[in-house]
Amino acid sequence: MTICEILPVADAQDPALALLRAGQVIAIPTETVYGLAGDATNGVAVARIFEAKGRPRFNPLIAHVADMSMAESIGIFDPLSRKLAEAFWPGPLTLVVALRPDAGIHPLVTAGLSTIALRMPRGFGAGLIAALGRPLAAPSANSSGKISATSAEAVRADLGEKIPLVVDAGATPVGLESTILKVENGGLRLLRPGGVPAEEIERVTGRP
Ligand code: AMP
Ligand code: MG
Repeated sequence: MTICEILPVADAQDPALALLRAGQVIAIPTETVYGLAGDATNGVAVARIFEAKGRPRFNPLIAHVADMSMAESIGIFDPLSRKLAEAFWPGPLTLVVALRPDAGIHPLVTAGLSTIALRMPRGFGAGLIAALGRPLAAPSANSSGKISATSAEAVRADLGEKIPLVVDAGATPVGLESTILKVENGGLRLLRPGGVPAEEIERVTGRP
């Protein structure tokens, strides 16, 4: 059994980095919900995410990036996807784009697909990814099938025996998952409703 520590964000960056560099998975706050994060380039770390959640391996993960240059090193952005990224990142919008063959993302992250779901978070996660210099795969920090955790205590109650660290930033500001969008044949497909309302996306893109 793992001893699970809860650390406030102010004390958490160094221990979080050390664990991520060692291929461990940890829970971190994002503006949407708590995420179960691991180095997206490390197959052992990514496998641990699926195992801790009990998530089927055919269900791909979102890779979280620190900035646009990291995003562009992983995905190929068509003009509409780039416009959406510029309008809504950092923030609760996930974009599914074509995966660069040389992205360095472990194939478990995408469940072997040739596309990848990318998001740029705000706050602690953003700083952590920038310091690590690598993308983090991070689904919600809850067992598969349970509701997403919006507090550190909820994460510990569910996953505390499986992960070494929960970074505590209190209640998450948005409290629901990211909106997932994919540009397809020049149009927009909403794959999951979430933190960015569809009307705001329509307003920015001029498309339904
Ligand atoms: P979660 O991380 O649990 O909030 O879920 C991430 C969601 O993103 C899942 O519903 C996945 O099916 C979806 N997703 C991740 N990668 C892709 C992709 N390449 N294409 C389509 N959907 C994806
Ligand atoms: Mg989830």
